[in-house]
Amino acid sequence: MHDWLVPLSDVRFTAAEVDTVAAVYRSGWLSQGPNVAEFERAFAAFVGATHAVAVASGTAALHLSLVAGGVGPGDEVVLPSLTFAATAATVLQAGARPVFAELRGPDRPWLSSAAAEAAIGPGTRAIINVAYGGHPGEATALRELADARGLKLIEDAAHGLGARVGERSAGTIGHAGAFSFFANKNLHLGEGGMLVTDDPELARRARLLRSHGLSSDTWARHRGGEAGYDVIEPGFNYRLDEPRAALGSLLLGRLPEDNRGRELLAAGYAEALARIDAVTPAIDASPGMRCAWHIYPVLLDPDLDRATFRDRLAAAGVQTSVHYPPLHLTTAFAQPEKQSLPLTEAYARRTVTLPLFAHMTAAQQSLVVGAISRALT
Ligand SMILES: *Cc1c(COP(=O)(O)O)cnc(C)c1O
Repeated sequence: MHDWLVPLSDVRFTAAEVDTVAAVYRSGWLSQGPNVAEFERAFAAFVGATHAVAVASGTAALHLSLVAGGVGPGDEVVLPSLTFAATAATVLQAGARPVFAELRGPDRPWLSSAAAEAAIGPGTRAIINVAYGGHPGEATALRELADARGLKLIEDAAHGLGARVGERSAGTIGHAGAFSFFANKNLHLGEGGMLVTDDPELARRARLLRSHGLSSDTWARHRGGEAGYDVIEPGFNYRLDEPRAALGSLLLGRLPEDNRGRELLAAGYAEALARIDAVTPAIDASPGMRCAWHIYPVLLDPDLDRATFRDRLAAAGVQTSVHYPPLHLTTAFAQPEKQSLPLTEAYARRTVTLPLFAHMTAAQQSLVVGAISRALT
C-alpha cells in the first residue's frame, strides 16, 4: 500500500464509537433489530423524511427505490452518464433500460433537466438525479418535470448526505432517495445504505423486499410476537446489521460537524485555486443550496496532460482519482448505436478529484496546493 502524505479520503473513529460497536457484539444480537430501528428514526428526522429504510448498501437502496417505486421490465430510466456504475446497474437489475442524458455544462457536472426532458419517451418510468460531489444539481426542476410527466424522481444521494436546497435535504426532493455508507462516504460504516421516502406504500414494499418478502422478521419472532411467517413476494437479503446501525447513529450525530470541516476545506481549495489559472473548481455551491462536499473534483485546462499531472501529484505523496469514467463509454453500458454525450465526455476527460476528508489538516491542504503549483511548472 502506498504511504500517501495526503490520501484521497480517510476515516477516523473515537474510542467511544469503537466501544459502542464492541458493546453491540457483546450483546449477542447482531442482525436487524433495535439499533437498526433507532438509526432509521434518527436518519428520517435528520433529513426530514417520513420513512427511512436501512439497507446493506447504497446499491441496495437504489435497487429498492426503483423496484418499490414501480420500475420494472420494459421501462426506461433517464440518468446521467457521469456517475458510479451502481446507478445504471440497478436500473438493469430492475429489468429496465438506462437512458443516459447530458450534464448541464462542463462547469455544472450534473444532470440537465432540459436534457432529461428531451430523453423522455413513451417507455420512461423514472429519472435518477445524482448529487455529484454532494451538489443537489437540478433536483427541484427534475421533481417538477417528473410530476408533470407522471414519472418517479429517484435521487442517488450517495454523495449528498447533509446537502440541501433551501430547507429540503437532498434525497427528500424526489419520490425516493438512496444514501450510501460505504467506507469513503461522508457517513462511513464500511458497507450500508438508506432509502428515504414520504410515500408509505413505497416504504412498505421496500421493507418487505429488504428481508426476503417475509411477513415478520427474526427480531419480532425472537421477542415472541410472531409464531411464523408468510412469504408475501420474493425479496432480497438487503438488511443492515446491528453493530453498523449503532455506529451509524453516532456518526449521524457528528455529521454536521464533519460536513462543516469539508465545507471549510472546499472553501480553502477554491481560494487557493483562484490563483492557479490551469486548474479550476469543478463544482461551486450555488446560492440557496448547501453542498455536502463528498469529493472535491477540479477541471484541468484542456491542454494539460492529466496523466502527467496526476503522476506528479502522486510523486509528491498526494492521492487523486477520477470521478467518473462516463458509463455510456463502458463495456457494460455502451449502446450499440454508440451514443455521444460531448459535455459529459469533455468533463470526464478533464476532471481530477483532489483529497478531501473531514479531518484533513491545513498543512495537508497546503501540501496539495503546493504540489499542484509545482506540477504545472
Ligand atoms: C457509493 C455510490 C453508490 C453505491 O453505494 P454502495 O454503498 O457502495 O453500494 C451509488 N452511487 C454513487 C454515486 C456512489 O458514489
